[in-house]
Amino acid sequence: MRFDVLTLFPEMFPGYLSQSLLNLAIERELVDVQIHNIRDWAKGKHKNVDDRPFGGGPGMVLSPEPVVECVEAVQQMDSPPGRVVMLTPGGRQFGQRVVEEYSHEERLLLLCGRYEGFDQRVVDILQPDELSIGDFVLNGGEVAAMVVIDAVVRLVPGVLGDEQSNKQDSFSSENRLLEFAQYTRPREYRGHAVPEVLLSGNHPEIAEWRKQNSLERTRQRRSDLLTSEEDKSGNSTD
Ligand code: SAM
Repeated sequence: MRFDVLTLFPEMFPGYLSQSLLNLAIERELVDVQIHNIRDWAKGKHKNVDDRPFGGGPGMVLSPEPVVECVEAVQQMDSPPGRVVMLTPGGRQFGQRVVEEYSHEERLLLLCGRYEGFDQRVVDILQPDELSIGDFVLNGGEVAAMVVIDAVVRLVPGVLGDEQSNKQDSFSSENRLLEFAQYTRPREYRGHAVPEVLLSGNHPEIAEWRKQNSLERTRQRRSDLLTSEEDKSGNSTD
């Protein structure tokens, strides 16, 4: 899968891309991430990419020309053209269903804003998928783009060592609930013991414990994820 990130701060990405699972996925050519500096498409001696808002008010707005021309040029760099995702607090809410949807794309272009955001004509012309990672305002779209890449690559086949891992993850289509509590060695730490059943080697009992634990944690923390039947009975409907 290929990601193209369009940003005014390309220097923010090398550290992130060179670590852990993502670095491995890139080395194994399962994932390709290309970073493009929007300023390279700015015209004039000063390569300005922003200007004051019409109508007045604080801050600067990203001008339409360098952004639209950067997206068009990046689309031409490879085929197929990518789905254009604009990171913006006004977009539809990111979540695991969107992660799953994006994981089926061959290519995504992630458009990172800065300052007061994009001139509306960028949206009108490119008609991107406008995406928000939550109801808060970041300084720029770069961290949001990293969030999208990080979540989507987990679903690219071959990226995780064990394919079961993303199936049991919280919010996945297969699981839907919060994941059960996890334990590793030591068996006891500061008076807190690992539940006996997990040491038993009895796999049906372990599976049942995990199912109930997952349900209980979801009921306590995120009851909005439960079906009304699960909520009432305390038992999973499947
Ligand atoms: N004035 C804008 C508003 O109130 O909607 C906020 C602009 S913000 C300071 C600059 C850029 O950060 C945005 O263009 C966007 O790319 C990114 N950004 C900020 N918050 C975000 C969020 N919750 N989700 C996705 N991107 C976000």
